[in-house]
Amino acid sequence: MDERQFRNAMGKFATGVTVIAAEVDGNVHGMTANAFMSVSLSPKLVVISIAEKAQMLEKIKQSGAFSVNILASDQKDLSMVFAGQMKDHQEVVFDRLDGVPVLPNVLTQISCEVTAAHVEGDHTLFIGRVTDIHVNDSDPLIYYSGKYRSLAEE
Ligand code: FAD
Ligand code: NAD
Repeated sequence: MDERQFRNAMGKFATGVTVIAAEVDGNVHGMTANAFMSVSLSPKLVVISIAEKAQMLEKIKQSGAFSVNILASDQKDLSMVFAGQMKDHQEVVFDRLDGVPVLPNVLTQISCEVTAAHVEGDHTLFIGRVTDIHVNDSDPLIYYSGKYRSLAEE
């Protein structure tokens, strides 16, 4: 099995799209991620998976905290900005949730403190204890087979 086959197969798992954000020395760094999962209810834990080559890895290690921002259906541009796929864009202004930078107007803002980091292959899994949540009522941005989609009613 080659790398392309693996990616094509994993791309068949439809996901939402998040932007992870972390702050070091007053500078906020964001990164698009779809490797996000709810882990535990008591305590409330989530997991994200960050590539070893991503700038975000050191940011989260240094800050010890991160936010997960679940994007709404009209926020494809934000996904592209934070995946490094759109260089010419307006400045992105962040809000705060429990002191952690979060994106305004997303579907859900989740602030987390890092409780564990597990290196697995070429990624690091960060376990985050959820410290606060803010939910808006709108539709999610969907990612499937390398393309953005939106939900359709059955
Ligand atoms: P960079 O590539 O340097 O930064 C990311 C981009 O965000 C740059 O263009 C930068 O200018 C911009 N940016 C950062 N902070 C700010 C700010 N404060 N204001 C304005 N712009 C800013 N990778 C993973 O490791 N795990 C995943 O789960 C994952 N899922 C992905 C899902 C999707 C749908 C896509 C498209 C990509 C995914 N990636 C994932 C890949 C990852 O998003 C890119 O490789 C990303 O470029 C890595 O970011 P970086 O931290 O290395 O920083
Ligand atoms: P793609 O076809 O490369 O990705 C399809 C699926 O494969 C993704 O949704 C993910 O589940 C998996 N995948 C892709 N790259 C991976 C990696 N380096 N490690 C582990 N799993 C990976 O193309 P795309 O979805 O259009 O992605 C665009 C870019 O974003 C690519 O450079 C891709 O590598 C990167 N990406 C990285 C991750 C990740 O690191 N977990 C996830 C999604 C996308």
